[in-house]
Amino acid sequence: MKVMAAVKRVVDYNVNVRVKADHSGVETSNVKMSMNPFDEIAVEATVRLKEAGHASEVIAVTCGPAQSAETLRTALAIGADRGVHIHTDAELQPLAVAKLLKAAVEREEAQLVILGKQAIDDDAGQTGQLLAALLDWPQATFASRIEIGTDTATVTREVDGGLEVIELTLPAIVTTDLRLNEPRYVTLPNIMKAKKKPVDTLSPAELGVDPAPRLKTLTVKEPPARQAGVRVTDVAALIDKLRNEAKVI
Ligand code: AMP
Repeated sequence: MKVMAAVKRVVDYNVNVRVKADHSGVETSNVKMSMNPFDEIAVEATVRLKEAGHASEVIAVTCGPAQSAETLRTALAIGADRGVHIHTDAELQPLAVAKLLKAAVEREEAQLVILGKQAIDDDAGQTGQLLAALLDWPQATFASRIEIGTDTATVTREVDGGLEVIELTLPAIVTTDLRLNEPRYVTLPNIMKAKKKPVDTLSPAELGVDPAPRLKTLTVKEPPARQAGVRVTDVAALIDKLRNEAKVI
């Protein structure tokens, strides 16, 4: 079966994110960008499925501007066989991404699509669920283990208070949680090999999708700065402050 991993280019998780002066969003110019960490886990999962003989081909797909091609190359260096770049400069919201991914999944006839549970820039946590709904496929979100059977996937999910194991009939959608795997280190020879792997570039129009945003961002603000703390001399002073200043006890 063909498996697909969705990868998004986001501000690197080590960057201290700053709000733009006009409050229209966060600063992304001259900022280090990387693959969304949950998507690295998704790519690693798909590559392991191929190595275990469950997948015939691994296709990495990204939606975004020209620079997103770099993120695809990283997926190819981890081990994906080929890339699909849905090239658009439009602001992409989860519903638009899900529609674009649906078109790509149908075009490729993929049987399993693995996405990150959330993108660390918008923190939406919606795309996998929307994609499952649009395709009318079963979904297992927040996966920490995936086992493939005959026409099924058994997925362990990280839920409040423990683990839930569910069985899905393929084709299906899975979103990754942190404990699913530890992505391999991308080696220089694999970066070189990735340069020769094929990448198809498509436009939303070729896929028959209008990616126009449905939501309008009104303003983006920094959280209020935290006030400096004070050191109390003893427990009695702490209790006095909690009771009479903070009024929480
Ligand atoms: P979100 O719903 O925005 O938190 O994103 C959840 C997951 O959807 C991400 O971890 C990616 O796997 C996938 N995704 C979101 N945006 C894109 C994009 N522009 N291109 C490819 N995959 C995406």
